[in-house]
Amino acid sequence: MSLDSILAERYSRQTRVPGIGKAGQEKISNSRVVICGCGALGTVLANHLARAGVGFLRIVDRDFVEISNLQRQVLFDESDVISNMPKSVAAANKLRAVNSNITIEPIVADIDRTNILELCSDVDLILDGTDNFEVRYLINDAAVSLGKPWVFGGAVGTEGQTMTILPGETPCLRCVFEASPGPGEVATCENAGVLGPAVAVVASFQAAEALKILVGKKEAINRELYTLDMWLNTSRRIKIARLLEKRDCPCCKQRKFEWLEGEHGTQTTSLCGRNAVQVSQKRSSKLDFDSLAKQLQPSGTVSFNKFLLKFQVSDNGGGFEFTIFPDGRAIIKGTDDTERARTLYAKYIGY
Ligand SMILES: [Zn+2]
Repeated sequence: MSLDSILAERYSRQTRVPGIGKAGQEKISNSRVVICGCGALGTVLANHLARAGVGFLRIVDRDFVEISNLQRQVLFDESDVISNMPKSVAAANKLRAVNSNITIEPIVADIDRTNILELCSDVDLILDGTDNFEVRYLINDAAVSLGKPWVFGGAVGTEGQTMTILPGETPCLRCVFEASPGPGEVATCENAGVLGPAVAVVASFQAAEALKILVGKKEAINRELYTLDMWLNTSRRIKIARLLEKRDCPCCKQRKFEWLEGEHGTQTTSLCGRNAVQVSQKRSSKLDFDSLAKQLQPSGTVSFNKFLLKFQVSDNGGGFEFTIFPDGRAIIKGTDDTERARTLYAKYIGY
């Protein structure tokens, strides 16, 4: 059999889908996509897109596979935990065995303002597989500045939400969520848990949007903010289209890319000789220690007064002590690795 006929057979069930067809499959095969984050959302996204035949997939993640990931991160197994595999590499290895006709590029990196443009500039579409708002605002800035579509997705507990952003045509993330939720204001997977099927549904929804965009069927995309709760069996579609006209959005209207330019976001400094890292975040309102303490209590020991909150936790065999200030700044004792500190901050405090 020729390569063409093998490929025709491989994608035969997909080309029969109305709206895709042979021409759509050709577009999918010639397309390039970056998946930012390869955890629960990212593994489901990568799985769908590799099987669908997206010609080039870049998978970016900073973490290594841990045992607590296996409950929902569908591309990983116990051998990846034992061999301490980076998530992006483990995902690429699995998916190369699934589809050898596409190119997969795993990148082990923390996505920040210094690398995001390079990661996104040579692709047709950006997919959000991250677990924090800071990177999402950065993706939003990058996507709007480059004029590329992206699909937002998030899930925590039993809830999920997603929206599709076509810069200039639909509202961007900042049109809808003007300011990012502060530390302690949103649940994280660490303290609220996450239901595997809820993440899989959100990521599958994102993957379907991705295929519509790649085949050029923009009229079929979701133009609302879609939220669901898999435990309560509820879903809502929030109309957001008018926000594009109504809001003088700093990002997509004024083209001020504050996350890309570093006016927002996290700064980290290793505190020399103290085995500690300071993580600071510019934020407009003060932290609410009452709600942050409630969020942290299941994971460790918490005490606070009006000036600071102390939080002790053991994580992956290491003991850490967080000292958190009302402005969102934290000193994390127990490491001098700034990336580790950022990860710990995102995991326990969230964005
Ligand atoms: Zn906007």
